[in-house]
Amino acid sequence: MIHVQDNNRIFLSSPHMSGKEQKYIQEAFDTNWIAPLGTNVQCMEKELAAYNDVEDAAVLSSGTAAIHLALRLLGVGPGDIVFCSSLTFVASVNPVLYQGATPVLIDSEPETWNMSVAALKAAFRDAEMKGQLPKAVIIVNLYGQPAKMDELLEVCNAYNVPVIEDAAESLGSEYKGRKSGSFGNFGVFSFNGNKIITTSGGGALVSNDKPALKKARFLATQARDQAPHYQHSELGYNYRMSNIVAGIGRGQLEVLDERVRARREIFHRYYEAFGNIQGIQFQTELAESKSNRWLTALTIDPIQTGVTRDDVIEKLADANIEARPVWKPMHLQPLFENAAYFPHDDYSVSDNLFANGICLPSGSNMNRADQNRVISIIKDIFQCN
Ligand SMILES: *Cc1c(COP(=O)(O)O)cnc(C)c1O
Repeated sequence: MIHVQDNNRIFLSSPHMSGKEQKYIQEAFDTNWIAPLGTNVQCMEKELAAYNDVEDAAVLSSGTAAIHLALRLLGVGPGDIVFCSSLTFVASVNPVLYQGATPVLIDSEPETWNMSVAALKAAFRDAEMKGQLPKAVIIVNLYGQPAKMDELLEVCNAYNVPVIEDAAESLGSEYKGRKSGSFGNFGVFSFNGNKIITTSGGGALVSNDKPALKKARFLATQARDQAPHYQHSELGYNYRMSNIVAGIGRGQLEVLDERVRARREIFHRYYEAFGNIQGIQFQTELAESKSNRWLTALTIDPIQTGVTRDDVIEKLADANIEARPVWKPMHLQPLFENAAYFPHDDYSVSDNLFANGICLPSGSNMNRADQNRVISIIKDIFQCN
């Protein structure tokens, strides 16, 4: 059977090229800097660091690779503990297992859906009592929404534990006027196909610690010692981004702010359409934050509305529109069934977000007619009940 591209389908978040990528790719071909590194890699690193107002950026093969390198740089190894947001994509936590360390999962708070300060404090108190503090804390900015960074950092700083900010979904977001991803000892971005900008696949590690990023580049290129022959004293990886891929990245960085604006506009259209329905609650943007609204996410209370999240996903699917449940928290995953978990309160916030949460199509390439299609179907569902 021939697979024909379905032009009628509305995706959750699909690649949106700017047309500026080809120029940089062509330059790489013209100079034969196809691989390994080259001008696009160097320039993309400078441009990304400047955009986020950090000292340095290393572009890599994926966001997962960036988290893995951050853990290596912080000396995380077998027997160590790492705290991580439970409500996230599995790639936030997998690198903890790569290093043979033990993840401890932390619940969300109900406003931003990100790491709960109360749960983090409880986890630290428990760790202190047991005589083993975590080696690092991985804080995720879910669906682009910045976490309550000041409060979280205050707790981590009090215990002198470094922070990795998983900003894979929050490139372009801001917290108190500073760019998301610039708050921890290390920040992580992803340029996977579904993210706000994409290189088809890729990631970056950013930091104000320049020597650490120099070390990251060393580890990412097989940890080759200075020598005319191939000599290795440390375990390395093949994690660097190619010069072709970085060409796509430069073309995408040029339109990042436009993409943020478009996604925020889509959020506002959804909010205007359903914001006043009793029992619908959108992920909250704090007064001090600006989310890139990578995905518009909301919860639907089945009792108040008479509609379940799954009803909405199904009706949209019938109309060839993709919507998804909110991430299944890591403490509910078979892979992490033995991991310790600290809830927000005497109840778990992320369990409820998973049960009732939905992500709506949010791609910056959705036109107004696409947006209207989604809105009218959802309005119908709620008026029928
Ligand atoms: C996408 C994503 C990652 C991983 O990025 P890749 O580039 O796909 O490896 C990590 N954390 C979160 C929260 C993500 O959404």
